[in-house]
Amino acid sequence: MAKEKGNLSINSENFLPIIKKWLYTDKDIFIRELVSNACDAVNKFKKLVSLGEAEAPEDEKYEVNIYYNAEKRTLKFCDNGIGMTADEIKKYITQIAFSGATDFLSQFKDKISEENDIIGHFGLGFYSAFMVSDKVEIDSLSYQKGAKAAKWICEGGIDYEMDEGERTERGTTITLYLNEDEKEFVDEGLLYSTLRKYCAFMPVEIYMEDENEVKEEEEETPDVIDATTTEDGENTEEKEDERVPLNNPKPLWLEQPKDCTDEQYIEFYKDVFNEVKEPLFWIHLNMDYPFRLKGILYFPRLVNDIEVVQGQVKLYSNQVFIADNVKEVVPDFLLLLKGVIDCPDLPLNVSRSALQNDGYAKKMSAYITKKVADKLNKLFKDDREGYENFFDDISLFVKYGCIREPKFFEKVKDSVLFNTTEGDKKTMMEYLDKNNAINQIEGLNASVVYYVSNKEQQVQYINLFKEQGMEALMLTTPIDISFMSYIEQQGGIRFRSIDSNLADALKKDEKSEEEKASDEKVLGFLKKIFDGFSEKVYDIKLEALKTDSVSSMITLDEESRRITDIIKTYKHQPNVVAAFKDIPIKETLVLNKNNSLVKKLLEIQGDVEKVDDTKLVCRHLLDLALLGYKQLTPEEMGEFIQRSNKILEKLL
Ligand code: ADP
Repeated sequence: MAKEKGNLSINSENFLPIIKKWLYTDKDIFIRELVSNACDAVNKFKKLVSLGEAEAPEDEKYEVNIYYNAEKRTLKFCDNGIGMTADEIKKYITQIAFSGATDFLSQFKDKISEENDIIGHFGLGFYSAFMVSDKVEIDSLSYQKGAKAAKWICEGGIDYEMDEGERTERGTTITLYLNEDEKEFVDEGLLYSTLRKYCAFMPVEIYMEDENEVKEEEEETPDVIDATTTEDGENTEEKEDERVPLNNPKPLWLEQPKDCTDEQYIEFYKDVFNEVKEPLFWIHLNMDYPFRLKGILYFPRLVNDIEVVQGQVKLYSNQVFIADNVKEVVPDFLLLLKGVIDCPDLPLNVSRSALQNDGYAKKMSAYITKKVADKLNKLFKDDREGYENFFDDISLFVKYGCIREPKFFEKVKDSVLFNTTEGDKKTMMEYLDKNNAINQIEGLNASVVYYVSNKEQQVQYINLFKEQGMEALMLTTPIDISFMSYIEQQGGIRFRSIDSNLADALKKDEKSEEEKASDEKVLGFLKKIFDGFSEKVYDIKLEALKTDSVSSMITLDEESRRITDIIKTYKHQPNVVAAFKDIPIKETLVLNKNNSLVKKLLEIQGDVEKVDDTKLVCRHLLDLALLGYKQLTPEEMGEFIQRSNKILEKLL
């Protein structure tokens, strides 16, 4: 072929600089583009062979090799795919790609910004090579009979050069002469990790080697093919076979779910996510119509704090890695999971914001949500015991999902479990079925659900509930508290802290008018005494509880309880704490008229001679209530011990 010079037929002279700057936010993406082109070239050739339109040796091994050379600062991408003739290079590389580029420029030149990054490719993948190279060379030999190798060289300007190529075997070699600033890409470690990131599941075996080492080996065994018949040659062949591709060309998600074993799923999970722990369970997504979507979503064991949970859902398109955690396709609550999703139908040559409004992306997101909900409901129905055993591990995910996605809540609400004070797990329906009769009498238009948000502080109340055969739900994590508010917003259910205003069920019958009047009188007297004790003023209430074992207790009104819980949850976030800290916390001291000590106290309250004893007992009753409610300060504790001694002394 005669030497030829040409000129890129494109209007915009600044095309390459714009491609360099805006095409992709991540420079390393050129690796994905060149390797996926190489895989495409192999697949095209295989297709031709299968159609009988091309011939290949029977033992042909298809592969993509990447050779790095630190001295020369070059990277070579070699494939034994379909190859290109000189005309095809001109057509596919210069014309088509450039027309793609013109489209790209006209569509995005003004709009594109870093936040609006493109996640897919534009038929411009090859040109991403110029993001890192001073010069790019293509050397290709087409599969066509009688084809001659052709070479294309371009230094990133608008000129290119074409010449005869050097390849003697079918396929293409793309050589990048890296820019001085980008020489890190010849580093073995970085190159390997980038290849693993983008190409881990590409469909053709991929190998990476140091060009200099390969050359040395070739010099040692000059004729590799002939050598296979000699003793030395057998070694060479064995050595070749020992090479392990850096990718897995047949990822598990492409298999039919019925053909996959648990071991395979677990192994795949550990391998892809570098996990040691096994996942709890998984969902194999396998959809062909109306869109193609395959993938596996794993439920890892989660910890109880959303902020420390790092999920990872990798998005692929035809086995080519696109990005992690693409919110537009995978609902954000599912990003707490780990998994892989391959959606070849997604229009990836659009910006993320366009994807957000894309019908396909929405349908996929809805499909994934439904699949996850179905799986949870099935596990709940089919294996209640197993489901209960791991529910704590997925509770964060499920509850967060409900809050984020109303459709998900609708689907799974009857499979959401709560821990109860009885130590078992119940759905909301089951809780209400058992406890509703009692709750209705609180006079609210909603079913009341009692909850415990601070087990240590509320132990006294839990015991009282138990005595009366009642139970409460344990809301112990931040997500539980948010989920509670979410359920309340749906209407029909009100949550009440177990230590907020005393549950009616714990009290004896309604007070008579007479009783109310006499209590008022006594309270006036008691208040004076209690007000003299501390700087903190408690509301005082006289109640006849069903139990006589408790003399006094502190209750916290519902709003105050929630504020206290918020402050506790967000104690490391000063702005949250500051927002609530001035709201007064309403605590009430309840004295149980049914308790013999309180009864005695009420009897002696008018006795002038017993004023000191009355004060002593009242003070002690307050401390007893506080003891069951919070941790006393060292001073309070000191006083409490002294007073206890004094009381015991009086006994003798
Ligand atoms: P895209 O791959 O999206 O079509 P590219 O700019 O990456 O866009 O490539 C343009 C065209 O060049 C490809 O469609 C293909 O026809 C050809 N091509 C690129 N790389 C190779 C290769 N390694 N072997 C054969 N043909 C290739």
